[in-house]
Amino acid sequence: MEKPLLHIQGLTKSFDQSGPVVNQVGFDVGKNEIFALLGPSGCGKTTTLRLIAGFEHCEAGEVYIEDELVESPQVSLNPQKREIGFVFQDYALFPHMTALENVAFSLREVDRKKRPVLAEEVLCRTGMEKYKHRMPDELSGGQQQRVALARAIAPKPRLVLMDEPFSGLDAMLRDSTRKEVRAILKKSGMSAILVTHDQEEALSFADRIAVMNNGQIEQIGTPEEVYYHPKTQFVAQFLGRTNLFRAHADGTDNVETRLGPVKINREAEGLILCSIRPEHLTLERCKPNGKETGIITGREFRGHDITYHVLFKGDKYIVHTDNRLLFDVDEHVIVKPLEPAVV
Ligand code: ATP
Repeated sequence: MEKPLLHIQGLTKSFDQSGPVVNQVGFDVGKNEIFALLGPSGCGKTTTLRLIAGFEHCEAGEVYIEDELVESPQVSLNPQKREIGFVFQDYALFPHMTALENVAFSLREVDRKKRPVLAEEVLCRTGMEKYKHRMPDELSGGQQQRVALARAIAPKPRLVLMDEPFSGLDAMLRDSTRKEVRAILKKSGMSAILVTHDQEEALSFADRIAVMNNGQIEQIGTPEEVYYHPKTQFVAQFLGRTNLFRAHADGTDNVETRLGPVKINREAEGLILCSIRPEHLTLERCKPNGKETGIITGREFRGHDITYHVLFKGDKYIVHTDNRLLFDVDEHVIVKPLEPAVV
């Protein structure tokens, strides 16, 4: 396997006596990989990013960039020497400089005369060439964010760190900017780490995600792995709505549940906690038949689909159906699994 660009192990940081806010964190980021640190507010994402950048100093653990030890209790390489680019939530562009000057400013290592040409090249790559003479306050949020990205990648850093870079944008612009930024990073061959508390953002932007809780990583995996095969109850619930229930596994990948037998993605024995996403369940109309029949207790129209709340065999379920599959509240139904996932 190719060596990772970034290797982190046992990274730990406390600010006071209340215990570590980053606790034994470890992960690798590959070349040209987009990695996300996802978790609730205060779980230690930004502190992890600041430790990688060299803005904080760790009390245990190691950070290596291309095999070079840049951070440990004994070593703290100067942030400038780590060759890392940054993109923040508030863009942090210099307000008195044009887009071009902002990007050129990041090229201090380059010969002064070559800076504008190089800056223009990168602005071109980010689709911002025609706005090069605009001041930041003459640009939309999405455009400012693309200039900020151009500024971060212009010096060809080894790694780009992005802290909630899209949260200042409205929903429509956020989606399109995210797609463009991902494409630019991929085309430039850059590795990046995105910090976000928004699970949809992490799922759509990253190649792999580390889900953090209370200073620790609970699971690392592709978007599909963490969403459909969460390893803990926290990951299952943080990644989106889900149906959690206990069931008996028989030593194979078969599990007997109240919804009938389902297949899981590994072999297990005994009582396990299952997570089935609402879109992996479906509903069938049926005649009332005592306890064997479910009843629809609520319905939310969401545009692309409909969420039903169902009471079935004494348990509550959430089911997303295609918006052509219509049921009324109080209708009798059976809940059926389409494809299962397991905690
Ligand atoms: P958010 O999404 O809200 O930014 P986060 O997951 O990025 O949260 P951090 O900013 O890393 O979390 O903070 C983790 C914990 O460390 C929080 O409890 C925070 O209050 C604390 N913390 C962060 N920086 C400092 C500091 N300089 N001094 C003391 N405590 C700090």
